[in-house]
Amino acid sequence: MKTILITGASRGIGAATALLAARNGYAVAVNYQKNHKAANEVVNQILSMGGEAIAIQADVSKEDEILHLFSVIDSRFGNLHCLVNNAGILEHQMKLVDMDYARLQRMFKANILGSFLCCKEAIKRMSTKLGGKGGTIVNVSSIASRTGAPFEYIDYAATKGALDSLTIGLSKEVADEGIRVNAVRPAFIYTDIHADGGEPDRINRLKEGIPLKRGGLTEEVAEAILWLASEKSSYSTGIFIDVTGGK
Ligand code: NAP
Repeated sequence: MKTILITGASRGIGAATALLAARNGYAVAVNYQKNHKAANEVVNQILSMGGEAIAIQADVSKEDEILHLFSVIDSRFGNLHCLVNNAGILEHQMKLVDMDYARLQRMFKANILGSFLCCKEAIKRMSTKLGGKGGTIVNVSSIASRTGAPFEYIDYAATKGALDSLTIGLSKEVADEGIRVNAVRPAFIYTDIHADGGEPDRINRLKEGIPLKRGGLTEEVAEAILWLASEKSSYSTGIFIDVTGGK
């Protein structure tokens, strides 16, 4: 059974990806930061389908907690085939001129450092040059890396720009180590993240401007993530799948 680690899988896109991964036969490591109950519900749904899953608490903005996360995977599963860097935060809409240093640190640590460090730990376990059997990494970026999200959250957009650069560079760096690195760039997906941005109803405000005239579902993003994580995308590395309703 292949093992997949999905960071931030207690709700939203991560939870949908965890459930789809289980349906596709993966043993799932469900990482979460705070919401123990929601993470356990995802695990219980997978167990009730006859799948295999565990919930692992770890704040991906902290290196020691990332090391703990991977050590639990080592001892429980003994291998890792796929990493989905999905955990991400958004803070209240404002102009850059009003953002303070503490906010920028939180944003860059959770969204950039977390993904970089998780990639590092995954490569140590997957690289064929380091005794591993290869694997796949999928970064969950955002359309914001293309738009820059002016007047809303340039800090968040910039972290997604960093994930895009990470995807391009790392895909080439580990291509001959049996590891493929790709990304999905969602937008306008119905999840709780928009409430964190201070506008829970943001998608409904914007949906007339989306070519498909609706927001997206977490399951629609999960399909793209799982395709990139699987052998079905075996000749693709360093690519981006936009799941944005045509925006
Ligand atoms: P969400 O519903 O807010 O869920 C975020 C998840 O990340 C939760 O499971 C949360 O865990 C976890 N998390 C947050 N900070 C963490 C940390 N420091 N360490 C570990 N886990 C952490 O978000 P979502 O909308 O599903 O977004 C998932 C990803 O898609 C993010 O990277 C986001 O930027 C990206 N994205 C979303 C959209 C959209 O429209 N929704 C669009 C573009 C990109 P707890 O609840 O346990 O704290």
